[in-house]
Amino acid sequence: MAATADIAIIGAGIAGCAAALTLANSGLSVAMIAPPPDGRDRIGEFLSPAGNAILRDLGLAEAFAAGPHREANATFASWGSELLAPRNAIVHVEGPGHVLDRPAFERMLRDAVECSVVAATVDDAAFEDGRWSLRLSDGTSLTARFVLDCSGRAGVLGKRRRVDRLVAAYGFLHQYNDDVEPTPATLIEAVASGWWYASLLPDRRLSLAFFADPDTMPRRISHDTGIWLGHIEQTRFIRQWLESACYRVGAPPVLTSAGTTWLDPPAGPRWAAAGDSAAAFDPLSSHGLTSALWSGRRAALAAAADSAGDPEPLTLYAETVQGAVKDFLTQRRSVYAAEHRWREEPFWQRRIHSGRGA
Ligand SMILES: Cc1cc2nc3c(=O)[nH]c(=O)nc-3n(C[C@H](O)[C@H](O)[C@H](O)COP(=O)(O)OP(=O)(O)OC[C@H]3O[C@@H](n4cnc5c(N)ncnc54)[C@H](O)[C@@H]3O)c2cc1C
Repeated sequence: MAATADIAIIGAGIAGCAAALTLANSGLSVAMIAPPPDGRDRIGEFLSPAGNAILRDLGLAEAFAAGPHREANATFASWGSELLAPRNAIVHVEGPGHVLDRPAFERMLRDAVECSVVAATVDDAAFEDGRWSLRLSDGTSLTARFVLDCSGRAGVLGKRRRVDRLVAAYGFLHQYNDDVEPTPATLIEAVASGWWYASLLPDRRLSLAFFADPDTMPRRISHDTGIWLGHIEQTRFIRQWLESACYRVGAPPVLTSAGTTWLDPPAGPRWAAAGDSAAAFDPLSSHGLTSALWSGRRAALAAAADSAGDPEPLTLYAETVQGAVKDFLTQRRSVYAAEHRWREEPFWQRRIHSGRGA
């Protein structure tokens, strides 16, 4: 016989954990279906200032403050100009942003979750006779009244829309001389075929990523350290930072998708998507983590209200996410249009002209 729950949460990433924590005292039975953590380092470490209030609402302010994260104080960008300029001189009322120790952050969230967790993936989801039936990779199944899809970019429910095919090549670099104190900063550098991002992590490693389209990313970059190194050498500021702070490039980068994709609609009768599964933004926005915390919490509150017979918060949730996607597409165009030097290059052309009316 299939296990049952009032609410099934698919995925135990940022959004899934935020949803489970929100439902902890709701009186509803909650089951989370998630594969065990794979222990791999994940890129995505900047938590914007708005994240602080959500962590407080989730009861995690103290645990977060005790963590190894560092306050983010400086971002410099060479974007639209040959000069390197400070990017975030604004003082945020929500407090500082943070550069996370991402594995420690995910562990903190996961350790706080108290609902039952099934160590599996959801292979299929079907809605019949007013209930969801989820087929799991361990051969079992689970039925639920409501499903929260927090499965990240993989997405289990619905059809995704996309506006680009951005990919990231990323790696984590170690210093070969740790007598040199690296600058605690984040650096963004636009180039003809895409843009670079580097950020000093709390453990002094450097997170380095190059963002491009599949046809502007050097071929075989993820197989050959020499190609990665050669590409880094063509940069101006990234290369200088690596050299002056003594970082070694010892392995080829990992490739991952990083484009802007979303579900339309992001919620419906007895279901909602949250986090990247609802809307995954180009990482230039730096708010994927905050959006995942926010939407995980809001979708869970809407699911609880829906279970109590009030569908209104679910409608409002879907409208808010749809509005955020629309705003993001407008912002995305204007940020990419601010880079004038390579307007005729395919990578920049696509971004300046795409997304209208999406
Ligand atoms: C290169 C790159 C850099 C980024 N940098 C930043 C940054 O600096 N700041 C920022 O705010 N954001 C950044 N982001 C975005 C950020 O990482 C994501 O927005 C965030 O991780 C989304 O959280 P999530 O919980 O929705 O998804 P995830 O963190 O991806 O979690 C989804 C979970 O679902 C599980 N899952 C998947 N399929 C299934 C299934 N079928 N069944 C059960 N479980 C499943 C997965 O195992 C995973 O644990 C970056 C993204 C990329 C690609």
